[in-house]
Amino acid sequence: MRPQKHICIVGGGPAGLSCALMLKRYGISARIFEKEEIGGLIRNAWRVENIPLMPARSGAEIVAEFKRLIDINGLEIVKDEILSVEDGRLFGIKGEYPYDFLVIATGTKPKRIPEFEISERVSYEYVKLPRGISNLAVYGGGDIAFDGALKAFENGIKPEIFIRGERPRALLKLVEEARNRKIPIHHKTPIREVRSHGERLVIVTSQGEQQEFDALLIAIGRVENLPKMNVENFDKVLIIGDAAHVHYRQMSIAIGEGIKAAMMIIELLGGAE
Ligand SMILES: Cc1cc2nc3c(=O)[nH]c(=O)nc-3n(C[C@H](O)[C@H](O)[C@H](O)COP(=O)(O)OP(=O)(O)OC[C@H]3O[C@@H](n4cnc5c(N)ncnc54)[C@H](O)[C@@H]3O)c2cc1C
Repeated sequence: MRPQKHICIVGGGPAGLSCALMLKRYGISARIFEKEEIGGLIRNAWRVENIPLMPARSGAEIVAEFKRLIDINGLEIVKDEILSVEDGRLFGIKGEYPYDFLVIATGTKPKRIPEFEISERVSYEYVKLPRGISNLAVYGGGDIAFDGALKAFENGIKPEIFIRGERPRALLKLVEEARNRKIPIHHKTPIREVRSHGERLVIVTSQGEQQEFDALLIAIGRVENLPKMNVENFDKVLIIGDAAHVHYRQMSIAIGEGIKAAMMIIELLGGAE
């Protein structure tokens, strides 16, 4: 029998969950700390079709599958936000936790525009938009912006995309999907100001044009998101998934790194029993 070790995983997105599931396969239990909802960023996705051997699925379907696997494998989820890490110890909002091995899978946080954050109608994630909206301004020209506009369209919401540059940076396929649905794309149209007008928002562009929307989705990029790390010994700490990368932010990479982290921990514990 292996000696009992505290294995902690911070982040219940694809990377953290894949790590915990792989450990469980080898009979090793880990604690997953999640500050929000299980599933991470992929909860927002309209259609995920770049995972080899997996048919195209929505983010919601992927999260439902993760939840099913959590249940049948009896994974332990602790609802807490980990604020800082020291050697052998995690400090959350609700408590302190010891660890022998730590996996940081905390993903990314959005690039913010604080002056636009005038109400809950302004969001950086599709799943956090208010319910019952009928039109949506999307700010950004990358994959996440186009994915959000397409998801809105599918949900019967009229989206319009505002991009700063001359051309979108998003995958051509997503741009074509948006064009096929005749989703308006305003090129070279940065948003200059966001105001409240009753329940709605007024979006003012750099050209001085004003339009009313029920909500605004800002998707202008994301940066790494790590808890405060006061750690000297990194031999027992692994950083994986989107949190570890600037350029390679894909669900399959996050899943692969979760599995690899699990295999490394199993090795450090003396291999499979
Ligand atoms: C709209 C959209 C569409 C996408 N579509 C695709 C696609 O089609 N194909 C693809 O491959 N990828 C896609 N992605 C990217 C994919 O979602 C990410 O690459 C993947 O989710 C990264 O997984 P992760 O586990 O590393 O991080 P995340 O999914 O970001 O998960 C991190 C988790 O950690 C939690 N957390 C963060 N900090 C703390 C803390 N301090 N304490 C406790 N918990 C914390 C967060 O709440 C979150 O649940 C898409 C992303 C978006 C937004």
